Amino acid sequence: MILLTSSKLPTVGMTIFSQMSQLAMQHNAINLSQGFPDFMPDAQLLNSVDHFIQKGFNQYAPLGGILSLKEEVAIKIENSHQAIYHPDAEITITAGGTQAIFTTLATFISKGDEVIIFEPAYDCYEPSVELFGGIVKRFQMKAPNYEIDWSEVKNLVSEKTKMIILNNPNNPSGKILTENDVQSLIQIVKDSNILILSDEVYENIVFDGKKHLSLCQYLELKERTMIVASFGKLFHITGWKVGYCAAPKEMMAEFRKVHQFNVFCVNTPIQMALAEYMKDEEHYLHLNSFFQEKRDFLRQGLASTSFELLSCEGTYFQAVTYQNISGKDDFEFAKDLTINHKVASVPFSAFYKDHLNENVIRLCFAKKQETLERAIENLAKL
Ligand code: PMP
Repeated sequence: MILLTSSKLPTVGMTIFSQMSQLAMQHNAINLSQGFPDFMPDAQLLNSVDHFIQKGFNQYAPLGGILSLKEEVAIKIENSHQAIYHPDAEITITAGGTQAIFTTLATFISKGDEVIIFEPAYDCYEPSVELFGGIVKRFQMKAPNYEIDWSEVKNLVSEKTKMIILNNPNNPSGKILTENDVQSLIQIVKDSNILILSDEVYENIVFDGKKHLSLCQYLELKERTMIVASFGKLFHITGWKVGYCAAPKEMMAEFRKVHQFNVFCVNTPIQMALAEYMKDEEHYLHLNSFFQEKRDFLRQGLASTSFELLSCEGTYFQAVTYQNISGKDDFEFAKDLTINHKVASVPFSAFYKDHLNENVIRLCFAKKQETLERAIENLAKL
């Protein structure tokens, strides 16, 4: 047997999402933990993939993605955010948002570079930074409002700061950036060479008429920002693992140097089908109201229970506190909820390096009405 003498990620175990999903399966619990829909994507999209497979689109796609899809992405960005990207030189189709994030970090982060992240943070940022020798500096956003104190963020900046990673709308808190947040960010990065990775995979899931502020709308930010998006979230196809990123051409050229050895290209028939499907913007413009109905259904269902709802401005996650129910830490509480009350969630402490416990769990509402109904029924018993 080979003896492995070292690990590049010695403290990393199975992700919390896999852990909670596994526990949900084991205990036959309703899975509101991992963020994926339990309903079918549009049949038109499914049939279109089949069509392109049968028509023979089964070989490698071009390195940056199929041009017609990149063109549709450029149109979507221009229509939504009035920002112009050259489809061929400035947009790349990736194997999900995750690969866009990983390849961005592989491209730009070297040993000793500092990267600022905001916690609660999506789980792939920190280990990916560390794999390339980067050093993570954290700002903790805290319950119940998850606000950013930009003067504290400014204190994290040093001459070694290479990148700031933002996730807007934020998974898991459901918080979105305000104009004031963006203006503070501009003040921090102006006159510097700091790059930004803006994870906007939930950009089309923002509620109550609020507007998603993509960083590409701001010229001072666009020139230094890698925007990351995911078709998984846009079209209920998380398992297809297709996403994209957009950036100024000099940055994208560097990204593609790494991308070509990382995956080279992404699934051809799916790209063809997405290009056709995206021509009709009706296919994504109503995502906000579609998920708002689900959010409101869950919130109304939980309003009379002992859980307390935190605000949810975007994403398909609702944060709740359980301090009126139990004194357990959030991980123990989430385990207990799965095993004994048959509802799986994700404890917020998993999104903080120091496992900050504020008695908050995350519930995913990208689920069928009957799934949410059953979950509410179980949660109401506590
Ligand atoms: N960023 C965030 C904040 C996410 O929640 C997710 C998916 N859960 C991703 C990136 C990854 O997206 P994809 O599934 O397209 O790789």
